[in-house]
Amino acid sequence: MRGAVIHAPGDVRFEAVDDPKIVHPTDAVIRTAVTCVCGSDLWPYRGAEPIGDPHPMGHEYVGFVEEVGPEVTSVKPGQFVVGSFATSDNTCVNCRNGFQSNCLHREFMSTCQAEYVRIPNAQGTLVATGEVPDEGFWPGLLAVSDVMGTGWWAADAAEVKPGSTAVVVGDGAVGLCGVIAAKEMGAQRIIAMSRHESRQKLAREFGATDIVTERGEEGVERIKELTGGIGADSVLECVGTAEAMRQALHAARPGGNVGFVGVPHEVAIDGQELFFSHVGLRGGPAPVRRYLPDLIDRVLTRRIAPGKVFDQTLPLDQVAEGYRAMDERRAIKTLLKP
Ligand SMILES: [Zn+2]
Ligand SMILES: [Zn+2]
Repeated sequence: MRGAVIHAPGDVRFEAVDDPKIVHPTDAVIRTAVTCVCGSDLWPYRGAEPIGDPHPMGHEYVGFVEEVGPEVTSVKPGQFVVGSFATSDNTCVNCRNGFQSNCLHREFMSTCQAEYVRIPNAQGTLVATGEVPDEGFWPGLLAVSDVMGTGWWAADAAEVKPGSTAVVVGDGAVGLCGVIAAKEMGAQRIIAMSRHESRQKLAREFGATDIVTERGEEGVERIKELTGGIGADSVLECVGTAEAMRQALHAARPGGNVGFVGVPHEVAIDGQELFFSHVGLRGGPAPVRRYLPDLIDRVLTRRIAPGKVFDQTLPLDQVAEGYRAMDERRAIKTLLKP
């Protein structure tokens, strides 16, 4: 089969790779329905993370079960399935506590921009839809496998409550899905921080009530003006840079919470500052598996439409152009069709 392989910064190629096989009795192999490029794929693409030897890419997927190992009984060939970027057995103590992305048997997905994908821990990871959904639902379900699940976790970790004020730092796909999540959780005021017109428009469509275009301390000042001088109840940090984290911590009110889901790069937290701020901080890789049944249902009942974050669709063999478009911010998120 063929799939995306990164060779060096800026160098992603679509090339022949080994066909995935059942390696462990707990594996499944799926045929990719649609996959995509993630904002976090841009870290190695931009040279901000070491690449090492050439390796496959991609961790977001929906597809059709092709084959299952002997210990997989929860899904069967032909079913349409949604999974998470972090696989989990869904039975260990961390899974039972709702932190499937910290499963004792966790394996992170990393080969999904391909025609077929091996899914470890298939029994606990994959959730099948009742019937094969119309193709129009596939982008939304694909978003659920990472960015929507991650946006949901950001809002959950920031303890968004009905009637509250939420700030979303970051206008990438995760930030935009964070707006959806804050809306669904009942936030009354949702302030999106964005400088890009097309993203502001989508944020408003998803439920943002205010847009702040300023960044850094200026952005924080603007948030304070909008929140009676004290800051927001909940802040969703969906970027992962030091500046975004600083902005998030300063935009939360005393007693407020920051949910941070952008993979941190050179982020350092000042203990004294955090101590005196009274701001709660929680984050990490989203336990997407915990939210899958609920989010799949919200998509299939058309309550939410996170598939709108995909503003570019390409054939999978043009995956390199998908990376370029996202790197140059010509696309928010690129959907890839095998
Ligand atoms: Zn992702
Ligand atoms: Zn587990």
